[in-house]
Amino acid sequence: MAQRDNFLRFDLKNTSGITLSPFGDMRRKENRRYIQDILNTDRIYLGRQIHSANIRIVEGKEEEVFFDDTDGLITFKRGIALGVLVADCFPVLFEGEDFVAILHCGYKGIRNGIIEKFFKLLKEMKVEYKNISSLIGPGICGKHYWIDLKRIILGKLELEGVKNIIDSGVCTFEDKRFFSYRREGENTGRNLAVILFDSS
Ligand SMILES: [Zn+2]
Repeated sequence: MAQRDNFLRFDLKNTSGITLSPFGDMRRKENRRYIQDILNTDRIYLGRQIHSANIRIVEGKEEEVFFDDTDGLITFKRGIALGVLVADCFPVLFEGEDFVAILHCGYKGIRNGIIEKFFKLLKEMKVEYKNISSLIGPGICGKHYWIDLKRIILGKLELEGVKNIIDSGVCTFEDKRFFSYRREGENTGRNLAVILFDSS
């Protein structure tokens, strides 16, 4: 039970609960269940991430929990939880009036344009996002990686006019509660970042 204290929770606006859990490898279903219990949901939708700009719209009727070749998830349906698995890359979470979304933002994914793709998708779908809130979750900082990914992400969000940006302020390399690819190598586990579109 003590393990359950080992996660961070943020609130964006008033509807979504956000956790990022560093206990146990979150690729494992039984470890994800701790977070599902906390969020009171029976599933967290995830992508099989490939550092792409591929974003999937989740409707909540899907049979599968993992979507192939997917690095971003968005849903317009309340009650749905979306996650990404990370170990130094940044999870970037969003809440708008009618949707929540989550992006896997590592160097390659950013270079492949996942952030631009996300805003392009919102524009194409004519989704209002002027008052969007965003959280940049734990990831590797510029002192411990060759490039400052967080600054790049922040710059792109500001360029899109996002004003409400929360920075978790956590570096996965420094904070040993989190798995870090750079600190622990390729056998490290994965942290989970998740956003729940609250039904209330
Ligand atoms: Zn650091």
